[in-house]
Amino acid sequence: MAPKAPQATTLTVLRTDIVSEHFVRVVFGGDGFADFTPRPETDSYVKIELPAGDETVVRTYTVRRVDPDAEEIWIDFVVHGDEGIAGPWARSVKPGTEVVLRGPGAGYLPDPAADFHLLAGDETAVPAIAAALESLPADAAGAVFLEVAGESDELDLVAPSGVTVTWLHRGAAAGDAGSDLIDGNAPLVAAVRELPWPEGDVQVFVHGEAETVMKHIRPYLRKERGVKPARASVSGYWRRGRTEEGFRTWKKELTEVEVS
Ligand SMILES: Cc1cc2nc3c(=O)[nH]c(=O)nc-3n(C[C@H](O)[C@H](O)[C@H](O)COP(=O)(O)OP(=O)(O)OC[C@H]3O[C@@H](n4cnc5c(N)ncnc54)[C@H](O)[C@@H]3O)c2cc1C
Repeated sequence: MAPKAPQATTLTVLRTDIVSEHFVRVVFGGDGFADFTPRPETDSYVKIELPAGDETVVRTYTVRRVDPDAEEIWIDFVVHGDEGIAGPWARSVKPGTEVVLRGPGAGYLPDPAADFHLLAGDETAVPAIAAALESLPADAAGAVFLEVAGESDELDLVAPSGVTVTWLHRGAAAGDAGSDLIDGNAPLVAAVRELPWPEGDVQVFVHGEAETVMKHIRPYLRKERGVKPARASVSGYWRRGRTEEGFRTWKKELTEVEVS
């Protein structure tokens, strides 16, 4: 039997809020809100259908928050320049625009029983990590590393007192392939590696640029620190120099290399 297609919901853009230099929050709602079934996980994501000339393209985004009282769904888009479809769309979309979302899917929920939570990512993972921090128990212990272009993208996040939040400055936009601070040299890689490894049961959530995460952080966590797959939510959210379509091909190729 063919897998069931994720539920499609038509939502209306209610407003956009500038959150920081490179983040725009698009707030969705309208009659379709009642059809949207939120997930309990904190990394819940939707596939958004967006216009691209005569075509429709699909882009994947985290649900930053669902507010049942206000009947609002927030999605925080990284505005990464003039390239691409979703970034420029979020920057210019007007209230009243209707959009089809599919999902949500999800895969991670912080386990309150874990001894330590390690959460790390670039701009694209900030919404999921912000949501995770809000769900942690008050006595949780952990470390959070967030890599952004600079101070103007640091957000005021709510975190338990035992969880340190460290903002790392790349000093350049994430897509800047000319920067020396990408891939293995990304500040995120050094920060994760330099964290004195905690005792006990460590649950990790690491997402962001795929080369950085999959080739330079995942092997460290899995092989050098022995984090088991069940305790590791680690994957790429985008790939430098590739559109989301090209990134899907990259992921497929990586999986084929790994299993061969
Ligand atoms: C599960 C999941 C959740 C995600 N959640 C979020 C989220 O909440 N917020 C968010 O902003 N993104 C999120 N992403 C990443 C987002 O889907 C990609 O960044 C996507 O490629 C953006 O689409 P686009 O049309 O703007 O650019 P595309 O057309 O896909 O790409 C055009 C060019 O822009 C580059 N590019 C794409 N994204 C970035 C970026 N972030 N920084 C710099 N250059 C980039 C590409 O490498 C390419 O060269 C998530 C991805 C996944 C898989």
